[in-house]
Amino acid sequence: MTDRGLLTMDLTCPEGHVVGQLIQNIGHQSLGIQVPDSTREEWPRGGDKMFTYLTCPGCDRRVYGSTDSIRERATWLSESESEWQGRYSLRYIEDGLA
Ligand SMILES: [Zn+2]
Repeated sequence: MTDRGLLTMDLTCPEGHVVGQLIQNIGHQSLGIQVPDSTREEWPRGGDKMFTYLTCPGCDRRVYGSTDSIRERATWLSESESEWQGRYSLRYIEDGLA
C-alpha cells in the first residue's frame, strides 16, 4: 500500500453543506470524525451504532445516515486506487426515520 496520507470523506446535508468529515489515516482501520467547531473524535461515536446523527450548521437541521452505509462508502474509498476524497449525503431526520 502506498503512503497517501489521509483519506477524507465529506458528510453533507441534502443541500450540500458540509456537516462533518470522516478522516482515515491510510493503512489504519480506525476512522475519525471532524465536526466544525469540535475536536476530532473516533467514529462511530458512542451513539452511532445504527445511525450517525449530526446537525447541519448551514440549515440548522438534524441529519442522519446509516452508520453501516457510511462505513461501506469509506471502505470503498480506502480501497480505491484513484480516489481518496469523497462525499456522502445524509438525510434530514424528518424526511423519514422509520
Ligand atoms: Zn445544510
